[in-house]
Amino acid sequence: MGARPLLNRRLAGMGTTIFAEMSALATATGSINLGQGFPDTDGPQEVREAAVRALREGRGNQYPPGPGVPELREAIAEHQQRFHGLVYDPDREVLVTAGATEAIAAALLALLEPGDEVIAFEPFYDSYAACIAMAGAVRVPLTLRQPAFRPDLDELRSLITPRTRLLLINTPHNPTGTVLTPEELAAIAELAVEHDLLVITDEVYEHLVFDGAHHPLAALPGMRERTVAISSAGKTFSFTGWKVGWVTGAPELVAAVRTAKQYLTYVSAGPFQYAVAEALRLPDAYYAEFRAELHRKRDLLAAGLTEAGFRVFEPQGTYFITTDITPLGEKDGIEFCRALPARCGVVAIPNAVFYDRTEIGLAQVRFAFCKRESVLREAVERLHRL
Ligand code: GLN
Repeated sequence: MGARPLLNRRLAGMGTTIFAEMSALATATGSINLGQGFPDTDGPQEVREAAVRALREGRGNQYPPGPGVPELREAIAEHQQRFHGLVYDPDREVLVTAGATEAIAAALLALLEPGDEVIAFEPFYDSYAACIAMAGAVRVPLTLRQPAFRPDLDELRSLITPRTRLLLINTPHNPTGTVLTPEELAAIAELAVEHDLLVITDEVYEHLVFDGAHHPLAALPGMRERTVAISSAGKTFSFTGWKVGWVTGAPELVAAVRTAKQYLTYVSAGPFQYAVAEALRLPDAYYAEFRAELHRKRDLLAAGLTEAGFRVFEPQGTYFITTDITPLGEKDGIEFCRALPARCGVVAIPNAVFYDRTEIGLAQVRFAFCKRESVLREAVERLHRL
């Protein structure tokens, strides 16, 4: 095999994702895992029953249709209309994917040519950097800076070059919890139209907004025809292990993403699709109660982290809180997170790994609050020992 590195150079240095590394550390040390974002309580019982029923009745046990089962595509279209007033044709404008992760990969692989530039908010969700690299494209960071983590729209304008092909917008934003305002969305839309850019929006936390509201970019003038919107059942219904995600957009965009998707997974797991179709049709009360519960948990963990000496940047959405560890006399979040399990039995994520320029986010550490209140209280008590 000679001296040539085995791993494709586009993935060089991308080793194991921080989420896998930190969850393994939590298991090995028996720590409370506030790192990787997954709830410690499963989603609604009736949705689980729907999955069991589908399995038993033989719905989806063999390859489902490539774009997703019609029941789910219809439910996704209904959801987009019910919550966002967006009308999509379930046959031509909706695609079911293996989680939002596959949707992101398929969209980037489908829409980019080598050398294209993609502007995305830094800190980046980790799969963005990897998938942009796999497409041979170039990521261009628009840094969200503490304490407010707002996008600087003049800076965005200055980053656009003739090679810019695509804006990759994540709102609510992981890990900072920033939710774009209608004014920020309008300014981004204007730039996209002016420069004829494609847009991918990652909206997996669309129902987890505590301050303000989530507005899809695709609803703005001139955006529907250029926007691939991505979401997922993982966060909204607390079934992150089911890996059911989706794409909505104009027919040509969805057709392009579908072409790439076919050769990644071909189709996504069948029985879960029927269950997610039922989940999407849950009454408004489900969504409202879920949001209220997470809102309480956000406030609980934010107060606890503040008391424990962290500087807390209160998130408007998602289920993550970004903190600054400087007041604790710490500088390096990566070292801090590696040592935290031994020091006090808690696992967190160093935001530094989501930055190209690590030093900008070096002192930032992210905690997930999608856990039972008793678990959050215990974690806070442990963090007090620091
Ligand atoms: N999105 C989740 C997080 O940010 C983790 C997903 C993953 O493990 N890739 O924690």
